[in-house]
Amino acid sequence: MAPKTVLITGCSSGIGLALAVRLARDKQRRFRVIATMRDTGRSAALAAAAGPALGTTLHIKQLDVCDEGSIRACVDSIPGRHIDVLVSNAGVGMVGPLECQSLAAMQSLMDTNFFGLVRLVKEVLPDMKRRRGGHIVVISSIMGLQGIVFNDIYAASKFAVEGFCESLVVQARRFNVAISLVEPGPVTTEFETKLYEEAERADYSQTDPETAEIFTQLYLRNSRDVFASLGQTPEDIAEVTKDQGL
Ligand code: NDP
Repeated sequence: MAPKTVLITGCSSGIGLALAVRLARDKQRRFRVIATMRDTGRSAALAAAAGPALGTTLHIKQLDVCDEGSIRACVDSIPGRHIDVLVSNAGVGMVGPLECQSLAAMQSLMDTNFFGLVRLVKEVLPDMKRRRGGHIVVISSIMGLQGIVFNDIYAASKFAVEGFCESLVVQARRFNVAISLVEPGPVTTEFETKLYEEAERADYSQTDPETAEIFTQLYLRNSRDVFASLGQTPEDIAEVTKDQGL
């Protein structure tokens, strides 16, 4: 059987990088992995992790989910534009009191996490429908199921992702195209590091001292007691996942 072509976004680090390498090295189910990233200058970690798979079962290409032109160019570079599996993984985070975040930063997050997915699906779904086959796998988050304190905009972006997919699945299924949502809990990647660095640099003068203190305790001192006093513990969050049968 011909190897399945899998296109993954956001492969410069974290989940995307690990998934690309795992699939490219799978000897039983054969995959041709198109591992994409917005800045191929950040490909060293993926290239090192891929080893001999690089250039054989794993190919690195540029794709910025915020740029329709770059998505089209990447898909056009694949023979017959034939993608069996699209993994929409690229994403960014944001934590902090709402009043300390600029609208421009919120819009930019929505542009990546939500409209990034929309742009990808608009480009790839028509080919999958024409071929009557394909699979779109979307990395959402536990925060697509449950809002978590100080993650207002990030959670909203993942709720948007979930609503989009749940609506789309109905027409896609008719054409034998599957849509899957993956809702991970915390995973140790650069994602968290970037958030904590931003949180440390942020200016909390826009909020009241009490909110600033709660946020600092929670995110910069990682206090479980404060989480509990707000009525959300990591156990509460795990409970949501269990309820969803995940
Ligand atoms: P990382 O920060 O390690 O990876 C995010 C990836 O997305 C990076 O490769 C980044 O590229 C890329 N990216 C950001 N913006 C764009 C863009 N405009 N176009 C293309 N790529 C872009 O985080 P994770 O691996 O943890 O995150 C992957 C996904 O998993 C995200 O959707 C996140 O929301 C989700 N998730 C993560 C969880 C966690 O705890 N880590 C938990 C639940 C869900 P660059 O290097 O250029 O910045």
